[in-house]
Amino acid sequence: MDNRQFIEMAKKECKISYSPYSKIKVGAALVSENGEIFEGCNIENASYGLSMCAERVVLFKAVSEGQKKFTKIAVASSSQAVPPCGACRQALSEFSPEMEVVWEENGKIISKKLNELLPHSFGLKK
Ligand SMILES: [Zn+2]
Repeated sequence: MDNRQFIEMAKKECKISYSPYSKIKVGAALVSENGEIFEGCNIENASYGLSMCAERVVLFKAVSEGQKKFTKIAVASSSQAVPPCGACRQALSEFSPEMEVVWEENGKIISKKLNELLPHSFGLKK
């Protein structure tokens, strides 16, 4: 699957986003080391602070199903380009700082290594 198709998977997730407050629908697709693909969307809450980004929803979904290593994540939004926020970068980095992060910006696909987006992250010494 190429990055364009992978981003399309993340876009599909935007449709089931629960985001009545920001009205920004975000979707993410995450590939584990064994090739399994997980999908997730942002889930907001009336308290605002309890809202959760799509990237962490999909990460926690995958980890809770036994996956700990990931090769790639795609993020898409109903509005502007959405590379992962700082909190999501740190959460993803816990498991796979080398993973590829892809998103679309003005029709162009951007691909970066997670450790480029979050240098000097906290993490276990390996
Ligand atoms: Zn985030």
